[in-house]
Amino acid sequence: MLVYIGIDDTDSPRGMCTTYVAARALRAAEGEGARAADHPWLVRLNPNCPYKTRGNAAVCLPLEVERSGFDRVWEAVLGVVRELAELENGADPGVAAFPEENRGHLERFYFRAVREMVEVEEALELAERYALAFWRHGEGRGIVGAVAAAGASVGTLTTYELLAYRRREMWGRERWVDPESVVRMDALFGDRTFDNFDYEKGEVRLTPHTPCPVLLGIRGTSPEVLPEALSVLRLGEPYEFYQVFRTNQATDVHYQRLSVKDLRPLVSAIVTGRVVGRPRIGPGGHVFFEIDDGTGSVTVAVYEPTGKIREIALRLVEGDLVEVYGAVKAKPQGLTLNLEKLRVIELRQVYAARAPACPVCGKTMESAGRNQGYRCERCGHRDPRAQKVLVAVDRGIRPGLYEVAVSARRHLVRPLRLEAALRASAGT
Ligand SMILES: [Zn+2]
Repeated sequence: MLVYIGIDDTDSPRGMCTTYVAARALRAAEGEGARAADHPWLVRLNPNCPYKTRGNAAVCLPLEVERSGFDRVWEAVLGVVRELAELENGADPGVAAFPEENRGHLERFYFRAVREMVEVEEALELAERYALAFWRHGEGRGIVGAVAAAGASVGTLTTYELLAYRRREMWGRERWVDPESVVRMDALFGDRTFDNFDYEKGEVRLTPHTPCPVLLGIRGTSPEVLPEALSVLRLGEPYEFYQVFRTNQATDVHYQRLSVKDLRPLVSAIVTGRVVGRPRIGPGGHVFFEIDDGTGSVTVAVYEPTGKIREIALRLVEGDLVEVYGAVKAKPQGLTLNLEKLRVIELRQVYAARAPACPVCGKTMESAGRNQGYRCERCGHRDPRAQKVLVAVDRGIRPGLYEVAVSARRHLVRPLRLEAALRASAGT
């Protein structure tokens, strides 16, 4: 039978990583006769969740298991979770196994766990009704991610990530991957991988900066290419093993299209509206502007680490039609949307008043004095009734989609590079 085992909240700020626990649990399950029915799923949940450890990731193991062998597989998975989870440092793991035929009851919960805040009680209720078995440590919220990951909608799992893990004696130490080898890998496999290198900052993007067991991760749109890409890299240490995950990263699945009046804290929204007033740059280089969609107005915050997109935001003027993507936060001055992507839909034509051109020779004329019209310095033509003319101003930006710097982009946000690739593959 097909069984989906969700695992969550095994890590703490001091170490571990749920993907590593899951990869080890998969091997233990295989040792008891289970067979992987798909790549394990690395499922990102609401990035605005205040309880998350880091990237708010849970994992699901899709397994083909003999009905009679399920108990042994379940015990093997639990054994790995109990052994590796950071129980002393605040991890509250949850594990839940669901049969294929019950997954449909979990899908709505999955989408809610990605897009808003869900309660532990809802997850427990689903586990009690539909799970073959479930376990949680303490009062743990881990059961939320376990149920959500097991219920993940397959249609949203369209990208992959290879994670290579460090040998235990290296955990917590400095990581090193030769930057030149990353650039070479990106040149060879850049059409099917993404987020390898930040060329703006000259920075390798594959390695995390946490004490967890992950050495590096390579993200891509095809699972086959990832081990090949790994083989090109020059590493400062041998890895223990690697695992390719199927993920909902870089898919924009966390966004909801909302009007301003329906915005709530801790959701990720897409709002279409017109710019009100003038964008302003504050201390620290943060840029803010207001948009109104007819139901209300909201402040859009474009923080300094988002990089060059701030220059686009600063060029907006009142009346421009834009679509903003971002996380909604409650601030003392009201709701704020932290910008992740910006679509400029329509730019208002802006005019500037300029001195008129000379009708005789074409040179820009000079003012002849207050209320005395204009005169031409080159040919001497005078026109006492000439007035300033309105000239269309080049706005310096174009309609289109803009994104934040690679280093500021969140796991679930789809990079522009993939937008183009996905449009091409969809033939639109
Ligand atoms: Zn002239």
